[in-house]
Amino acid sequence: MHFTGTVYRNPYWPTFPLLQISQGCTHNKCKFCTMYKDVDFRLQPMEWIEEDLKEIATMAPNSTTIQLLSANPLVLTFDKLKPIFEMINKYLPKMEYIYLAGRVTDLNNKAVEELKILKELGMKEISLGVESGDDWTLDRIHKGYHAEDILEQCHKLEEAGIDYWMTFLNGVAGREHSHEHAINSAKIFSQCKPMLVGTGGLTLFPGTPLLEEAQRGEFDPLSEKEMLIELKTFVENLTCDCAFITHHTVAANLTGPNFLSRKEKIVAAIDRVIKNGDMDRMAAIRRNKRTL
Ligand code: SF4
Repeated sequence: MHFTGTVYRNPYWPTFPLLQISQGCTHNKCKFCTMYKDVDFRLQPMEWIEEDLKEIATMAPNSTTIQLLSANPLVLTFDKLKPIFEMINKYLPKMEYIYLAGRVTDLNNKAVEELKILKELGMKEISLGVESGDDWTLDRIHKGYHAEDILEQCHKLEEAGIDYWMTFLNGVAGREHSHEHAINSAKIFSQCKPMLVGTGGLTLFPGTPLLEEAQRGEFDPLSEKEMLIELKTFVENLTCDCAFITHHTVAANLTGPNFLSRKEKIVAAIDRVIKNGDMDRMAAIRRNKRTL
């Protein structure tokens, strides 16, 4: 198998088999991320993809799911994705779900009709690393798009009937803009129809511009308690009828389907942690994290 650099697999999707069809990230500018900083983006050679598929077909010929790598294979044009998807179906004829992640802007180069064809070939569910619906925050972290782009591209997915995930990055606006980040993200996410909203908490990893800004006093990170208050504001204002997951260290029990019917319980649970949680322990867990 041909893998290059960081291999990030979405742990909530079936994680075997994995197939790398691109390397690195086309954007590589988000201020909180170093995952692919040493890997130039490029399309995997088709010969490598075919060799890997033959290997997978030998080991797991009845695979019904596959997860494509690397950071944003979704950026490939329709003309590049279609033959790859056809090759996957040729070597793995029972294929049902081709999972892949991407950026909101990766959808710019695809028409709804093209998305429908990709869905027929297996792209039934994708994950978008949205992070915020607040324009100030999106600019601050160099995300490379704005709230109106999120709405436009997500509505295309809805028209094509493709399920999608949206992520909210808790804490990434810092103290200066925390409330607006929570409120405006909930407002934009709520105008979309994601099958799932996921939240992760900002960790300032070595080598990230955001950590360097924090060290120079130009970025004011939230405390663990402030992160939870921001998360609570986001959840209170979110009105999507979707599944909800959180990577928050103390909040694994908030994860599950039917967000709206569980919303009050989720808010109450976050409140309990705000009042009684061991913030030192949470900070220690975050300090020990090494990757996103
Ligand atoms: S967060 Fe995603 S889009 Fe941004 S640099 Fe990292 S991998 Fe690329």
